[in-house]
Amino acid sequence: MTNVNLTNYPRKKTRQIQVGKVLVGGDAPISVQSMTITKTSDVEGTLQQIYALAAAGCDIVRCTCNDAAAAEGLAKIVPRSPVPIIADIHHQYRMALAALEAGVHGLRLNPGNIRKPEHIKAVASEARDRNVPIRIGVNGGSLDSDLYEKHGGLTAQAMVESAQQELKYFEEVDFNLVKISVKASNVPLMVEAYRMLSEITDFPLHLGVTEAGPLPGGLIKATAGISTLLLEGIGDTIRYSLTADPIEEARAGRQLLESLGLRERKNVDLIACPSCGRAEVDVIEIANRAQAAFADKKLPLQIAVMGCVVNGPGEAREADLGIAAGNKRGHLFVKGRNVAVVPESEMVDALVEWATFIHEHGTDAALKRVDTTIAEREAAKDRNAALAEKGDDANHDHERIVEIRRTVSEK
Ligand code: SF4
Repeated sequence: MTNVNLTNYPRKKTRQIQVGKVLVGGDAPISVQSMTITKTSDVEGTLQQIYALAAAGCDIVRCTCNDAAAAEGLAKIVPRSPVPIIADIHHQYRMALAALEAGVHGLRLNPGNIRKPEHIKAVASEARDRNVPIRIGVNGGSLDSDLYEKHGGLTAQAMVESAQQELKYFEEVDFNLVKISVKASNVPLMVEAYRMLSEITDFPLHLGVTEAGPLPGGLIKATAGISTLLLEGIGDTIRYSLTADPIEEARAGRQLLESLGLRERKNVDLIACPSCGRAEVDVIEIANRAQAAFADKKLPLQIAVMGCVVNGPGEAREADLGIAAGNKRGHLFVKGRNVAVVPESEMVDALVEWATFIHEHGTDAALKRVDTTIAEREAAKDRNAALAEKGDDANHDHERIVEIRRTVSEK
């Protein structure tokens, strides 16, 4: 893999806490979180979603605890879950106490809607006695109305102050197993709030752009906010809040961390050329089929789909494996070296077969598997044929320029 490792970027040193078996903060890997969208009282349905989220790369899952049936559901879900479970609490502090009784590994409290100091302290005391961490989850959309008025609206300072107030109540009962989030749906506001918070606290921070919305806009907003902060060294755990299947949230979180080099790669990193006048195949269609074929395969390889054999193998020479189209055939290459030629219709199947082989036996074994000189000769033949047909000028720019000049001079 040719991933420049970004883990050397200075990361803000935070305290470390433990959510079930997952460490958060300090030098722990940045974790991925998501939230179930089932009724928590539906134990089997919720567990099914939790398992799917864990398989998609989620480290910690949050479930709502909004009534007694949900709390009872949590008591059954927690011991069967493959990942730590956090109960999401709004308005009713008693639901937090019930969730602790159910055995959850963490709580999320919204300081905007549980506001009585005695209620907050009762929950923090119980969490302290049970050694269970709490996230102070400030949300721009449900900010404490007093702070809203004091600051003349929703500001980064108001969100940070909301978290500080909650921290003060926690300190009064000697509770410090804390992580904090200050989410907003406005990306610059969220970035500013987290930067401010990071300056004044060393508690671990949970990053997110709240209510980011449906794909693809939600994905772009969340990525913009979360990655800006991560690359500044801010953030210990992340959640994409998308209006989509939560599996998409887990995949996005995992892919973001892998693409930034902040988590070890577990899945295929599919790269593909954008296609151009030289393409000898429908690159978009082949890349989509390859993406679907590799979706559930745990192969930590970079795999390239390239539209032409003229430039493809060279441009993707750093990939572990790739395929480039030429003369109705697919030219497979391993680390830039041609290894096999397959019919165009078998390009994706061949990628899957070679990727599985490389994963099991390594790149050297793959290169020794075949006589590469044959594949290299065939690739050279198709490359030369393509060049002879389209020349260096795939876009026919000479003819286009003559036509452009003629059009302009007529005006
Ligand atoms: S690999 Fe070939 S088809 Fe793809 S963008 Fe490059 S030149 Fe165009």
